[in-house]
Amino acid sequence: MIADTLRDRIRSGGPISIAAFMTEALFDPRHGFYATKDPIGAGADFITAPEISQMFGELIGLVAAQTWLDMGRPDDFKLIEMGPGRGTMMSDALRAARTVPGFMEATEVVLIEASAALKAVQAQTLGPSGARIGWVDRLGAVAPGPSFIVGNEFLDCLPVRQAIRHKGEWHERLVGLAPTDEGSDTTDFVFVLGPPLGQDSNLVPERLRDADDGALVELRPGDRQVVDQLAERFANQPGRALFIDYGPATSEIGDTLQAIRAHKKQPPLQNPGTADLTARVDFESLMQAGRSAGLTAHGPQPQGQWLVDMGLEARAAVLSQSRPGKRSEIARQIWRLTDIEQMGALFKLVCLDSADLPPPPGFSAG
Ligand code: SAH
Repeated sequence: MIADTLRDRIRSGGPISIAAFMTEALFDPRHGFYATKDPIGAGADFITAPEISQMFGELIGLVAAQTWLDMGRPDDFKLIEMGPGRGTMMSDALRAARTVPGFMEATEVVLIEASAALKAVQAQTLGPSGARIGWVDRLGAVAPGPSFIVGNEFLDCLPVRQAIRHKGEWHERLVGLAPTDEGSDTTDFVFVLGPPLGQDSNLVPERLRDADDGALVELRPGDRQVVDQLAERFANQPGRALFIDYGPATSEIGDTLQAIRAHKKQPPLQNPGTADLTARVDFESLMQAGRSAGLTAHGPQPQGQWLVDMGLEARAAVLSQSRPGKRSEIARQIWRLTDIEQMGALFKLVCLDSADLPPPPGFSAG
């Protein structure tokens, strides 16, 4: 069990970072949340935009095809997805993109997936597409070539660290153990104040560096790694990366670590491995990191606005006409994806591009 492994680790080496706790809980190859099962869908733990409506992936597919056209129709194009889940978004994207003559012949689909269980689901979902498909475990392992990279709800599950401002200095917030009750033999995971961050204080979002004592901020080293990998890849070949995720447009103070199991929240340190652990993406820091790595950053664009600007309603009208019985279901899908109380505003898109590409579809120039 993951809880036992983590307890042993803390007993022998002292408190661990939240990132270490998340990594184990989500990706332990035997008992990790993602490693062992398919958690996505109405009957499982959480639901995502591509699982709500086929229109979501279709519009992503149009961006992929437009990107290929913008790059001058290269014949060795890579369509890369980070964290493809059940493969639903890619399947819908390919259905839309294949209407562009030459796109499928030029394109190799590359899936970056950590979970063996989900890889099997992806293979099943995407088999019928007839596309050339390969799997790798990291971006650095993808063969060279012009590329479009997409990740929906990928960045939110990259392990985060947390820091607390204490006596004018940033300290890491760690996970330790405490007796369940006074005198009891059992222990629970608890947050504890760790040592000063030192050098790593530069991971604190710029806007928040001078916060008052007691402030808690989240550090997203995983996002920076992804940005660095993109910059490396895009230095020599054209590339566009599109991330869709949830979080504020500007860096905010506060603890957003959450655990979701069967569509319900549970305390984040309780029963590691049984729930999805995520934290809000900090779009401001993501864009800043992109720019300082030499990429062009577009966004953050609210999901609802983006989908409408991309023609969601026109697509819905066509779908409703061919399937009149589904009219109200399609209307409900639009509401869930675009309403500002639903996913329309909290979810946002950011595009990180190599130089010399026109602005991505659905984003205003700049
Ligand atoms: N994009 C899908 C799934 C989102 S869940 C959807 O929208 O439905 C997050 C996905 O990212 C899962 O497939 C998970 O296994 C994968 N993942 C998370 N961290 C990863 C990492 N470091 N490397 C590769 N895949 C990862």
